[in-house]
This record gives sequence, C-alpha cells and structure tokens, in this order.
Amino acid sequence: ADIALYNAKGAGRNCYAIFGAHMEELLQTRREIEYDLRRAVAEGEGLELHFQPVYAADNGALCGAEALLRWHDPIRGSVGPDVFIPIAEECGLMNSLGEFVLRETCLAAQRWPALKIAMNASPKELRGDGYPLKVMSMLNHYGINPEQIEIEITEGTLLDSGGQCQRNIETLRSAGVHFALDDFGTGFSSFGRLQNVKVDRIKIDKSFIDRFGKEEEGQAIVEAMIGLARAKGLKTTAEGVETEDQRVALKELGCDHLQGYLLSRPLSKEQFDELVGGNVVNLRLSKISTLAHA
Ligand code: C2E
Ligand code: MG
Ligand code: MG
Ligand code: MG
Repeated sequence: ADIALYNAKGAGRNCYAIFGAHMEELLQTRREIEYDLRRAVAEGEGLELHFQPVYAADNGALCGAEALLRWHDPIRGSVGPDVFIPIAEECGLMNSLGEFVLRETCLAAQRWPALKIAMNASPKELRGDGYPLKVMSMLNHYGINPEQIEIEITEGTLLDSGGQCQRNIETLRSAGVHFALDDFGTGFSSFGRLQNVKVDRIKIDKSFIDRFGKEEEGQAIVEAMIGLARAKGLKTTAEGVETEDQRVALKELGCDHLQGYLLSRPLSKEQFDELVGGNVVNLRLSKISTLAHA
C-alpha cells in the first residue's frame, strides 16, 4: 500500500525514491489523500462506478456487470480503489462511500434491467447491525428486485466478526440478495470456510487464473475449486481472464462465468450503454469473440 501511495499520480512532491521514503512523508501523503477524499465524498464529486461486463463461459452471453468504484481527484488524478478504500475504512468514510456505491448500483440495476449487478462491500460495512436494513431500503426505494443484486465479500470479512456479518448475510440472502466470495483462494483456509458460510458464488482469484495453463499445479487447483463449488451447488466466476487459452480451458472445466480484460475492461456507464446497445436480447445471441472486441 505504501508503494501504491507513491504511485498515486499528480502531486509532484511525491517523486521520492520509493524505498527511501520516510514514514513521516508517507503519513503526510495519506493525510492529504484523506482530506481530498473526505471532500469528494461530501460533495459527491469525482466519484463514479465503472462496470466490468461478466459473460457466460459456455455461450458467451452477457450476463451482468461488476460495479467498481473510481475516484478522480482534480490534482491527484485517478486514484485506485486499492489505495483509497483502505484509507476510507480507517478514517470512517466507508459508510458514506458504501452508501454511494449502493445507490449507484441500484441506478445501474434500473438502467440495465436484464443484467445482474454485482457490488463490492467492505468488511466494516457488512459488520454493522444496520446493514441489511440499509440495503433493503435502498432496493425498495429504487424498486429493484433483490435477486438482481449480488454483493461481493472477501474471506477476510468473515473473520473476527462475532457472527454479525454472517447473520447479516443470512438476512439479506433470505430476502433474495445473492452473495459471492471474492478473490477466492487468497484468504485464510478458503476451502474450510465454505462449509460454514452460505454464499451463492465463488470468484476464483486472478492469481490462480494467471497460473492456469502455465503449470500443471495451477490447472489442478482451479479444477479443484470448480469441482468443490459444484459439489456445494455454488456458481463460479473466473476473475482476470486475459488470454483465449484461459477462456477455452475454463469453459471446458465448466466454470460458469468469465470476467477479465480479454472480454472487456471496466467501462463507464456511457461505454456500457454502447456495449449493450439498448438491446440486451441481441447480445445474448452474440458470441464472445465478437464481444471481446466491442
Ligand atoms: P475486485 O473486487 O477483486 O475487482 C477486480 C479487480 O481486478 C478490479 O480492479 C478490476 O479492474 C481488475 N481486473 C478485472 N479484470 C482484470 C484483468 O483481466 N487483468 C487485470 N490485471 N485486472 C483485472 P479495481 O477496479 O482496481 O479494484 C480493486 C479492488 O478494489 C477490487 O477488487 C475490490 O476489492 C476493491 N473495490 C473496488 N470497488 C469497490 C467498492 O465499490 N467497494 C469496496 N468495498 N471495494 C471496492
Ligand atoms: Mg469484486
Ligand atoms: Mg476479486
Ligand atoms: Mg481484488
């Protein structure tokens, strides 16, 4: 994260050698980011969701999109969520930021009614008592069917939560909201965790997809993950699919959904509109190979 902070674009004063940086300077940069982020959240400026298309592995149909938060600061430039979300969590901004994401996700669900919209939720949000009510009131307010929404959580979310997190998940699932375990395989005791946690889908982390096709072991791990998911009645999504070989192999293994730069990068709302061309039904008939270059 420290290195990422120094990669944040814009401020010329941050051009120190990465490894020689002093703690005080890191803290200063962080305080500045916090200040700017606080203003962005308060004014709702420079924040938006982008949407990465999700496709069915078997026939290439566009099935949904994952909402990914973007922050563009006028001076700093674009700051990645990997940098600003941890800061937002620590300085108490995550609730307002999460609310922004939830609202924009509902608007996206209205805009593309035939698609499933996935959003990421951070551990802090998910652990709050009021979380299920917050989600359900927002869905209600925008007239969204809960089944159109999927919430992505990481395994870390499920640790140390005194059970509140799991209760929240259960409440929302019984109302119809779907859940996915994001970055599957990177967390602590992934496979064991699947026994206790009720989710609808696992998203196989990009690091496994990268090794896939290169090493035998990489292949075996992905195969085992898909097998396990199937045995538990869970859907699978492969994250970070970048090559045609990966796509074909994942399809053969029976992975359900694919997401990655091979198919599409995350798109702005307007770009996504162009992709669906106002007619999702037509896209369902198209093949992945044509969509990949859209
Ligand atoms: P994630 O949820 O695992 O999202 C996938 C990340 O992989 C995204 O990065 C996406 O742009 C990137 N990606 C997708 N396909 C490819 C590919 O083929 N190759 C490569 N190299 N990368 C690919 P992004 O948008 O920078 O988001 C990073 C992380 O920040 C997300 O990981 C998620 O954990 C978090 N995040 C993003 N938006 C939100 C949000 O609204 N709320 C919360 N709580 N976290 C968010
Ligand atoms: Mg995600
Ligand atoms: Mg992920
Ligand atoms: Mg991730």
